[in-house]
Amino acid sequence: MPRLKDKIALITGGAAGIGLETARLFVKEGARVALVDLREEDLKKAAENLGDKADVLTVAADVSSAEDAARYVRETVERFGRIDIFFNNAGIEGKVAPLVEQKIEDFDRVIAVNVRGPFLGLQNVLPVMMEQKSGSIINTSSVAGLKGSPDLAPYITSKHAVVGLTRAAAVEAARANVRVNSVHPSPVNTRMMRSLEEGFSPGHGTEVKDQLTTTIPLGRYGESADIANLVLFLASDDSAFITGAQYPVDGGMAAT
Ligand code: NAD
Repeated sequence: MPRLKDKIALITGGAAGIGLETARLFVKEGARVALVDLREEDLKKAAENLGDKADVLTVAADVSSAEDAARYVRETVERFGRIDIFFNNAGIEGKVAPLVEQKIEDFDRVIAVNVRGPFLGLQNVLPVMMEQKSGSIINTSSVAGLKGSPDLAPYITSKHAVVGLTRAAAVEAARANVRVNSVHPSPVNTRMMRSLEEGFSPGHGTEVKDQLTTTIPLGRYGESADIANLVLFLASDDSAFITGAQYPVDGGMAAT
């Protein structure tokens, strides 16, 4: 029996990486999906990638815009009639530099996408789910939302804020049987990580990857499928008594 039969899932940052892999798994488990992303071309490719049989809506939108957030939720409800799962996942890495050298406009952009974005998503999705009296929301934070590391202050700040958002939303939404949890990946093999490796040492991404890998007890980066499996658990009724919780999926990195 598919675990998400007839469920409607809305995924931001759905055109690539962790979001797309989660969409693939959700479709396999019987869900219909709405993919939201900034990159229109990648969205088209993602929808094709999910195959002819998948029932997919794509919405080009910037999660940091209040108008866009209202629109992507409205279009999802118009198309599918409800939202059972919200994977609040889009994010950017920001610039690699010591805190004192970070530019204020770069800080503001990271906060806009990684904090205002999920906040706006929650503002628009929660009324839909609370009216339904059911729903599961998974916010993407990071190991960087649980501990510090050098040269990524805006990103680390933003991902800690996602923990606060998760807890705040979880306690408000619980009375309507809506659950809100966060996932905390370590480095995962996606475009974002390639860009970060280059940011740490231009032209030496492979060496940076090797060095970072030594900080992960299980001795490897995550794959998008590792994260998608956890998101599936939190999206499904198998996690019916779990809300307001933080889940590392990090090969043991947060434990160090
Ligand atoms: P990715 O770059 O492969 O995918 C992110 C997607 O989000 C892209 O398709 C991008 O176009 C989209 N996006 C970016 N800004 C957007 C905006 N303003 N509006 C709409 N869409 C936007 O990266 P990923 O690794 O799949 O990252 C997904 C999430 O996982 C992010 O929140 C990231 O911070 C988090 N994360 C990633 C890692 C990692 O190592 N890759 C580790 C921990 C947490």
